[in-house]
Amino acid sequence: MSLPYDKQVAVVTGGSSGIGLATVRLLLEQGASVAFCARGESRLNDVAAVLARDFGAERLLWKAFSVLEPGAVNAFAAEVQARFGKVDLLVNNAGQGRVSTFANTTDDDWRAEYELKLFSQIHPIRAFQPMLVASKGAIVAVNSLLAYQPEKHMVCTASARAGVQNLLKSLSIELAPAVRVNSVLLGLIGSGQWSRRFAERPDQSVSRETWYANLARDKGIPLGRLGDASEAAAAIAFLGSRAASYITGAQLDVSGGLSRHI
Ligand code: NDP
Repeated sequence: MSLPYDKQVAVVTGGSSGIGLATVRLLLEQGASVAFCARGESRLNDVAAVLARDFGAERLLWKAFSVLEPGAVNAFAAEVQARFGKVDLLVNNAGQGRVSTFANTTDDDWRAEYELKLFSQIHPIRAFQPMLVASKGAIVAVNSLLAYQPEKHMVCTASARAGVQNLLKSLSIELAPAVRVNSVLLGLIGSGQWSRRFAERPDQSVSRETWYANLARDKGIPLGRLGDASEAAAAIAFLGSRAASYITGAQLDVSGGLSRHI
């Protein structure tokens, strides 16, 4: 894949693992400089050391903080501006899903989930908006198919994700024509939460290959497997690039056909 990222600057939240890390790596491969964050400093530093070895430290900036802390997000934006002088792409990827039914989701859980899903978009978009406007850049939000296709065991996260899609649509209008705003709707990607659930499987003798194959069959994924983080990253990188210059307010389904809506 070749995308026009030469001399571009990208920011990726949640870049120390899974889809975020695959996106950071892909953008670096395509020629961009990349600033990324996550909360856990040790994993972030380990990942950054490998990326600096592979792509050169001068094209990288990383910092440990939570995107739920507006002061830290603003400070990071100032650091990115000082270091690279611009931002062409913001990828809002940081976060995680919450498994809960209506019966066992407390008010505090609802508040925490809405805070994570909405403010992981709001804080970075607000902080990087001036730079994105100046560069006529793009925002890509990593969201879930649950926004359109809720499941009862993830009632709280699905509801919050639907709100995020609504927010992004509004922003695609408010920030136009300067900034394009799009999202990817992920199905089951074999990173993060699914790796954690695999590690906690009741029968520890089942291999990853078998466990994932059974999961894909049970979920009825038409392509017959979970997606790879690199496949989500490819969709993100496309939507964020000038190759998608006439696309805004759109969502790209990356679910192996799991989506049932037309
Ligand atoms: P991972 O757990 O592998 O990666 C999540 C990344 O986000 C890590 O770098 C994590 O680092 C970081 N992060 C989490 N919370 C925060 C925070 N508050 N501030 C800054 N960084 C944070 O997950 P995936 O790669 O699987 O998922 C990436 C995104 O895609 C998530 O938002 C997830 O909800 C979404 N998604 C994933 C699906 C899947 O099947 N994998 C399906 C649908 C959506 P640290 O913990 O150190 O902060």
